[in-house]
Amino acid sequence: MNPSKETVVVVPCSGIGKPFGTVSREAAYDLCEDLRPGITRLVSLAKLVLGEAGARDLVARHPAVTIDGCKQMCAAKMVRQSGGTVAREVAVLDVYRRHKDLKPEGIAELNEAGRKLARVLAEEVAESLDGTGQPVKGVVHA
Ligand code: SF4
Repeated sequence: MNPSKETVVVVPCSGIGKPFGTVSREAAYDLCEDLRPGITRLVSLAKLVLGEAGARDLVARHPAVTIDGCKQMCAAKMVRQSGGTVAREVAVLDVYRRHKDLKPEGIAELNEAGRKLARVLAEEVAESLDGTGQPVKGVVHA
């Protein structure tokens, strides 16, 4: 870990009940707990929705990577509504379009393809954080 890198807040959507939403959460855990724990902070969408002070503060002080499970883009919208800056919007569907062999299924527990899709997504974001310490600006598209 490079200690000079700026912390990045990672906000996955809460898509409970939807496989693509579950992928967004799994990817965020992979990114923050496994791949880049030193430079990322996971903030749950629920805490932002509730206006929890600690979550709002993190989002206000650091650029955010949002990971959303559908075109509603709840995480990206909520970060902006909370006064934060979305440095990178990731849509699970965009990543899936590039990895059609990894169709996520299951809700409480993802199938193996869904877990792999989450890992691929997390690795892509992790690589974008390297070098500059900042996520690449702009929306990720296939
Ligand atoms: S972005 Fe879509 S899947 Fe995620 S919480 Fe919103 S409506 Fe649900």
